[in-house]
Amino acid sequence: MMIQDIAPLHLDNQYKDKKADKGSFILSFRNDEILCHSNTNSFPHYEELNDPDTIYLFSINNDEYYLTLDPVEISDGEYVSVRTFLSGEVISKEKAYAAFTAYHLDKWYKDNRYCGRCGKGLVHDHKERALRCPDCGNTIYPRINPAVIIGVINKDKIILTRYAHGYRHNALIAGFTEIGETLEECVKREVKEEVGLNVKNIRYYKSQPWGIAQDILMGFYCEVDGDDTIRVDENELKSAIWTKREDIELQPVEYSLTNEMMKMFKEGRQ
Ligand SMILES: [Zn+2]
Repeated sequence: MMIQDIAPLHLDNQYKDKKADKGSFILSFRNDEILCHSNTNSFPHYEELNDPDTIYLFSINNDEYYLTLDPVEISDGEYVSVRTFLSGEVISKEKAYAAFTAYHLDKWYKDNRYCGRCGKGLVHDHKERALRCPDCGNTIYPRINPAVIIGVINKDKIILTRYAHGYRHNALIAGFTEIGETLEECVKREVKEEVGLNVKNIRYYKSQPWGIAQDILMGFYCEVDGDDTIRVDENELKSAIWTKREDIELQPVEYSLTNEMMKMFKEGRQ
């Protein structure tokens, strides 16, 4: 079950033009860190803070989440990296999903203070999640980067990778879609670039919003076409290895699409 699989809870991201009040969760970020209570990793409520300015984010059932860009403090609080939520179940899954989604929006607000066309300060639109230039009318919507996750299969083996930098557990081949290519072309290009193989029989699996990288991930399985000799791109990957189903070592938490795709193959369901 991936991070967005929180049923019977539901994250409702429809934009509302409203401010936080008593009982609202207030999320505050410093770079890739989020403000939490030290003992529980829970997020502060509005009444614990000194009346910060807030932006409505989304709701999860009856809980409303707001973002503040103001500097805030709580007595027993600290900023913790949102990536620690990937190393084990330190908070509930819906809270981790809320943090990742809020992080994506926080980055977008902080990266878009001025109009890229004319340089004037942007203002928040009141009808939809958008920033608008009061001078030239330029409208900026949240940016979501499309990326693919690829399970390359050869009979009872799949290619597992380890990234050269960052995340240290097993992963699959992955990469960003470039302007002017289809997702299927992206799959072929990324596999060729990262491990030097040709692939065929590309089929879509599932998608996943992945806020900590500001991505929408789309998972595909495919089969190697011809020679299966791996040539690793060492700039991107530390390793890429054909791995038998039973030898697949999964990630520490079941949040990612990558992990689910590895698990499906491990269990013989792909
Ligand atoms: Zn402008």
